[in-house]
This record gives sequence, C-alpha cells and structure tokens, in this order.
Amino acid sequence: IAMATPVTIPLVAIVGGGISGLVCTARLSQLGITNSIVFDTGRRAPGGRCSSRRIYIDGDIHTFYHATQFFTMSNPCFAKIISFLHARKAVRVCNGCIVDLCGRGKYSEVKGLQAFVRTSGMQSIPESLTTLVQLKVNTWVSSVRWDTGVKKWQVDDHGWFYYLLVAHNGKCADRLMAGSGVPVLGPKANLMQLCFLWVLLAAFPRKLELGYEGAFVEHKDVLRIGNNAAKYSSSSQLECGTIISTKSFGTIHKVPQEHIPPSKEKEVTGKLLEGFAEVTDVDLKALRPRFSKAQLWGAANPLNVLHGAECVFKASHNVGICGDWLVSPCVEGVAVSGLALAEVLSTHWDRERKDVGLRPVFVPTESKAIGMFP
Ligand SMILES: Cc1cc2nc3c(=O)[nH]c(=O)nc-3n(C[C@H](O)[C@H](O)[C@H](O)COP(=O)(O)OP(=O)(O)OC[C@H]3O[C@@H](n4cnc5c(N)ncnc54)[C@H](O)[C@@H]3O)c2cc1C
Repeated sequence: IAMATPVTIPLVAIVGGGISGLVCTARLSQLGITNSIVFDTGRRAPGGRCSSRRIYIDGDIHTFYHATQFFTMSNPCFAKIISFLHARKAVRVCNGCIVDLCGRGKYSEVKGLQAFVRTSGMQSIPESLTTLVQLKVNTWVSSVRWDTGVKKWQVDDHGWFYYLLVAHNGKCADRLMAGSGVPVLGPKANLMQLCFLWVLLAAFPRKLELGYEGAFVEHKDVLRIGNNAAKYSSSSQLECGTIISTKSFGTIHKVPQEHIPPSKEKEVTGKLLEGFAEVTDVDLKALRPRFSKAQLWGAANPLNVLHGAECVFKASHNVGICGDWLVSPCVEGVAVSGLALAEVLSTHWDRERKDVGLRPVFVPTESKAIGMFP
C-alpha cells in the first residue's frame, strides 16, 4: 500500500510587521510556506511606517498619516498586490492631484504619477495583508540566536524556527543580528545612512481648499504636505494635515526621539507651520490649528540603498533580510524587497542553496523624493 509522505512546512519567524514583512509573509503563504509568524511592536496593529494615528480632538476621532502619505505602482509584481488590496477595498486611486508646490500657493501637477492611497487610514493596508498571516503584535524581539547543533533559530522565548527573516530598518536589523552569532552584513552595515525627519500633525478649524491631495514642496524646512490625512466625522469641520520636514531641518533639530523636550516641540511646530503658511499662502492668523503634534522619526528613511540585490539571504544559516534600504525607500520598494525574499526562501527550501546580497555595495537613493519609486 502506498503511504502518503507527510509534508513538512518549515516554521518561519519574521521580525517586523511593516509592509516588507507582511508582504513577504503573505507571499510565503501563497508559495505553500504557511507556518510563519510575524512579530511586531505595534501596540494594536502592525504597519510600521505605513500605519496611521487616531487622535481624539473635540470629542471626535481623526485619522492622521504620520509617515506614508501615498504610494506609487510601477512594478508589475507590486501591481498584483495592489489589485489584491483593491479587491478588498483597502486602497484606492488617489482622486485629488499630487503637485509640486513652489511657494505662495503656486503649484503644478506632477505628471504621469499613478498614486494610490488607503481607503480608511493607512491601517487598511496592513489590516488586509494580515488576513493572510499569523501575527503577534505588541511584541519586541530583543534576542535571536542560531544554534549550530539543531541548525535552528531561537527567537526570545517564542521557540525555535527553521528560518529567521528580519524585515525592518537596516541598522536595527544589523543590531539584532550582531548578537546572534551570525552577523549577516558585518562592518559594511556602518555604510548605511539614515535621515531624521520631523512630522507635524495639525488639525485646522475648517477646510483649507488647497486644491490638491499632496504636495512636494520647495522650501528649506518643509519637504512634503499631505492633506489627504483628513478623516471627517459628520459633526466635525476640522481638516487634518501632515507637514513633513526636510532632511536638513531634521538634522538641525535632532533630539532624542523618546524624550522630546517640550521647548523643542514648540519650536519645531512654529517653524513648520511658518513654512507651511509661506508655501501654501494660507493665513494662519485666521486658521490657527486647533490641534498639533510634532513627531520625530529618528530612523526615517535610508539615504543609500544596496546595489544589485533586492534582499539579503545567507543560505548556510537560513536567515534573510528585506526592507527599504534594499530596493527603494518607499512602500512599493519594500513590497518588492519582501516579495524577493519570499521567492529566495522558497527556492532555498526546495534545496537551491544560494546566498543573495552578502557583499553589500551602497549607492545613493535615486528617488526624487520619499514615496517615489525610481
Ligand atoms: C515621514 C515619512 C514619510 C514617508 N512617506 C512615504 C510616502 O508618502 N510614500 C511611500 O511610498 N513611502 C513613504 N515613506 C517610506 C515608507 O514609509 C517606508 O519605506 C516603508 O513603510 C518601510 O516599510 P518596512 O516594512 O521596511 O519598515 P517599517 O514600516 O519600519 O516596519 C518595520 C516594523 O518592524 C517593527 N520592529 C522593528 N524592530 C523590531 C523588533 N526587534 N521586534 C519586533 N518588531 C520590530 C517596527 O516597529 C515596525 O513596525 C515615508 C517614510 C517616512 C518616515
């Protein structure tokens, strides 16, 4: 009698539930590797820099995009993910235009940009992707260890895993791996450069009538404006906007991210509002924000990316890395990196033992601005 051989599926730990980790895990499950767990620090939900903040103002809840404003779609593999998210009503084509804003309210539409946004706060995207994966939120992974005897990874006290995938900011990924006994990138990781960005969340007392949904800005302090963060409740007239600083502003006003002195928050808020008024020509005396909150992204975006590989994989130790320092520092870039890592892992499981991206050469990022896929 022919006996069916039991099919083993490897247990995979993914550290990081941003878009790179979620896309990678979802693709693994499509490839038949369904035994994966994503660990993420998000208190209620995953999403990392593609999540949104919900804030009560005057008794109503408002949604702010505190990092990603919109995203592009030019890569055919990413297009498949967009159609999956679109079918679940998690994303939509950006209705309003995205413009280049050159000052005093003057702007021109950015041509040929296919932009997508969330349907109900950026959270809709991670939420849809997590329907395909096993997730442990509110979980900080502090130690990972490779055991040469059993040839498996121990992830804190969460157990033993056949594969370990690290899906977040390159420097953090390297720090986590440094204590594991298997430094994946080694000293070259120091060549990675990251920038600081301040983000100001502001709720204005009424509609600003700006005429666009998002703007790339030419200003010494202000880099981007998003007024697509608005989430109106029927009783509220407030318009929620996001003002993102330039990299040089972030460097000049650098403070410890976890302990922002109130005087610094006040100074940054004043300067970013001033810059916003200058470029948009909005009269802030009449439209003083009812609410504002300045947030610092200490490791906001990479300034250089790995050349020649979309992910990193060390075949001898069953470990891989994906993230925004591998393809392009944007949602589309991290999705492409996550997809690539899933494919590499799957072929490794099928016994093709190939290293990927282990001799890192970093090149400056090509994108015109954050969020643009080169
Ligand atoms: C201010 C700003 C504006 C941006 N605007 C845009 C835009 O408009 N369009 C666009 O396309 N891109 C934009 N980007 C870039 C984009 O947000 C990022 O490139 C992308 O979201 C990164 O995804 P990721 O999955 O690689 O990392 P992340 O989103 O950072 O996700 C990593 C996750 O891993 C978690 N994590 C880290 N360490 C651990 C650990 N030890 N244990 C458990 N969990 C851990 C983190 O908490 C996080 O949730 C912007 C970025 C910033 C900062």
